[in-house]
Amino acid sequence: MKTILEALPYQLNSLAPSISEKTLEFHYGKHLQTYVNNVNSLSAGTPFENETIKNIIATAPEGALLNNASQVFNHHFYFAGLTPKPSHAVATGALAESINKSFGTFDEMKRLMSEASISLFGSGWVWLSADENKHLSITKYANAGNPIKEGKTPLLCIDVWEHAYYLDYQNRRADYVAALWDIVNWEVAETHFI
Ligand code: MN
Repeated sequence: MKTILEALPYQLNSLAPSISEKTLEFHYGKHLQTYVNNVNSLSAGTPFENETIKNIIATAPEGALLNNASQVFNHHFYFAGLTPKPSHAVATGALAESINKSFGTFDEMKRLMSEASISLFGSGWVWLSADENKHLSITKYANAGNPIKEGKTPLLCIDVWEHAYYLDYQNRRADYVAALWDIVNWEVAETHFI
């Protein structure tokens, strides 16, 4: 099927000051749109033309189509996991229990995910995900990586490509990551965990 740019569940200017309107204009409106366009042009006339993004990720060989499809999935997941008005600042319910079981405390999970984001060399993604036993882990990947190929369920991700923060924070990736915690939509992460 034709891949589409999913609408943001908030206004472009509403994530400030964590993420500025200018950054979202480029990141969502230009970078993500380009990945969407690339998937459509690269899959046209191939067996992947009518596949979903998830099926392309599961079955496409290494290369441009897989990279662009992964970027579409990752970005939709990232943007949907943020909100200008989090209803709660920490995870609740079963997800909170699993975080405590897997990392000790919620703050320790945040610290480890921040550390992974800051230490990832170059461009990539950091993910909080669950395995089939609901055990959680934090993994980092270069470029367009995500935990789907390992059979894990993604819960939350941080985009650490420079295009995600450079206009607002320049080289200060740690400040971007710190500010991102203020706009995580834990309700959405909890929904993924079920
Ligand atoms: Mn990005």
